[in-house]
Amino acid sequence: MQKREMIYEGKGKKMYSTDDSNLIIAEFKDDLTAFNAQKRGNEAGKGALNNKISTQIFHILQEKGIKTHLVQTLSDTEQLIKKVDIIPLEVVVRNIATGSLTKRLGIKEGIALPFSLVEFYYKNDELNDPIVTDEHCIAMGLVKSEKDLDILRHTAREINAILYKFFESKGLKLVDFKVEFGVDADGNILLADEISPDSCRFWDSKTNEKLDKDRFRQGIGEVKVAYEEVLRRILS
Ligand code: UDP
Repeated sequence: MQKREMIYEGKGKKMYSTDDSNLIIAEFKDDLTAFNAQKRGNEAGKGALNNKISTQIFHILQEKGIKTHLVQTLSDTEQLIKKVDIIPLEVVVRNIATGSLTKRLGIKEGIALPFSLVEFYYKNDELNDPIVTDEHCIAMGLVKSEKDLDILRHTAREINAILYKFFESKGLKLVDFKVEFGVDADGNILLADEISPDSCRFWDSKTNEKLDKDRFRQGIGEVKVAYEEVLRRILS
């Protein structure tokens, strides 16, 4: 597979075209950003860790029938993925209340929610990724139809059910996470982007120690140590 020019650089990854128009290469960066990139950092080796963690998680999901963009790992920091048109929604699933949910609604930090919440946020840095309703999504043309929203919501719940159980068996609480989806050349909706400690909150089941990007957001430190611990547990 021939790596060609960079076609996009995001906060966490660079994308390159290849000699196959249906495939691109994602390169995971060591950069860390939070609060809509107002806080920036860099952690050598973080990109490689996220590549390994996300690849393992995508394999687990693929084995359970979730369709994803992942084709294969190419190197420590690179993966070959199917080219998709990213649906401009961050689909967030929450099992335990924390983060923006507690700030916005005053729900008590750390309580287990009576059922998993699925929320849609419009991916738009200028607007600070606002939360949107189904009707906003349709009216703004962010998705083609209500059916697509049903697919996103249903798939996000399926992913949560699979991963909540998996991480529980590894001594981690899957507190909440964000996923993104894209549409491939044949019109299929595929899980895209990554699932890593950058996009999930993991708390140790016994101690509630945070093992995710909140260590960077909140300046707790030892970010890489925490990501290494997540990888170690995933592989154990
Ligand atoms: N999240 C993400 N990217 C974003 C916003 C949120 O990956 O741009 C993830 C975040 O890591 C957490 C979940 O989505 O696992 C819910 O985040 P929340 O809405 O609480 O926002 P935050 O407190 O991170 O601002």
